[in-house]
Amino acid sequence: MFNNDTINKFQSIETPFYYYDMGILRQTLEACTNASARYGFHVHYAMKANFNPKVLDMIQSFGIGADCVSGNEVKAAIEHGFAKEKVVFAGVGKSDKEINLALDADIFCFNVESVQELFIINDLAAAKNKKANVAIRINPNVDAHTHHFITTGLDENKFGINIWQLPDVADALRKCTNLQFLGIHFHIGSQITDMEVYKSLCTRINEMQDWFEDHGFPVKVLNTGGGLGVDYYNPDTNAFSDFESYFNVFKDFLNVRPGQEVHFELGRALVAQSASLISRVLYVKNGLKKNFLVLDAGMTELLRPMLYQAYHSIENLSQKSKVESQNLTQDIKYDVVGPICESTDCFRKDVDLPESFRGDLIAIRTAGAYAEVMASGYNLRNRAQSVYSE
Ligand SMILES: *Cc1c(COP(=O)(O)O)cnc(C)c1O
Repeated sequence: MFNNDTINKFQSIETPFYYYDMGILRQTLEACTNASARYGFHVHYAMKANFNPKVLDMIQSFGIGADCVSGNEVKAAIEHGFAKEKVVFAGVGKSDKEINLALDADIFCFNVESVQELFIINDLAAAKNKKANVAIRINPNVDAHTHHFITTGLDENKFGINIWQLPDVADALRKCTNLQFLGIHFHIGSQITDMEVYKSLCTRINEMQDWFEDHGFPVKVLNTGGGLGVDYYNPDTNAFSDFESYFNVFKDFLNVRPGQEVHFELGRALVAQSASLISRVLYVKNGLKKNFLVLDAGMTELLRPMLYQAYHSIENLSQKSKVESQNLTQDIKYDVVGPICESTDCFRKDVDLPESFRGDLIAIRTAGAYAEVMASGYNLRNRAQSVYSE
């Protein structure tokens, strides 16, 4: 991601900033769309992972759909040229205003997360003399084997409709004449790297579609959600997720009936490796037990380590060529922290780095997903700019 030219260019740019490698983004999208096209699978991009306009434009140019979780995301998807027939709208708390906006935009489908929401969408659609397409988001009680802060498909999670409530769903669908039932939707968590998890999900999806068919509801769409993980430890050697193995699991284990569509909602796996957060060392504090590198970036630019105890690879770009040419060892342990007035404002403790100095450029890798979108103005901080490789 960083050759000497790129690092030299960084010298004159105000830090912190997000650096987008558009080549990596393009290659990732190619790898994903090639792998999904083989089986005729449909991919929607989960926009909440990154709604940077340049990123959205490139994703849209691959013919990928949009998976939105707010009214503003629906609006942005349409504005960025995503086809309305490829926009889906999930979320456990859609407001009336957001539902109306999506009805006016004639999106493809609402992924509905409660029985009450079915009645509300039905009423709002009726007021507009429209029929809304709905898929039922089912909570399959499948353990995603990921960090418990980012698991979403267990009984204890707030998302989706639990299996024991399905008879109520069937009753509601029969009563709601302004709804068109399209299919079933799942999303069990994020940063999933164990393909066995997706096999278990396929088993559950097969059972659930049988249930709906048995109760007189033909299932046209099987939406398996997203969650495919990326390699935060080796961003260079594993720049792309293994899309082929991922789609293969669904090809092998999902019972796809004739005429059915299979949908995926990938967020992180499409964008995470395409960006890094670039920062400068403001101060080096050497203590008795601890050394601190105080950066000019903090939890206001990248919240994941503080919010989910997430790991990000950290590199000293300024010492990189010295380390490589002189075969230096990275033998100093630093706690790499931000400037924000919170003790949790720490990117990682005991990071092995070469001896580092004030002014050194530090790259925090794999910051393309759930980074810029979570930026905040806490401490009245400026918004970090975005810089693009092209
Ligand atoms: C966040 C989200 C996704 C994408 O999750 P990733 O882990 O980024 O792939 C997909 N579907 C829904 C409903 C989501 O909320």
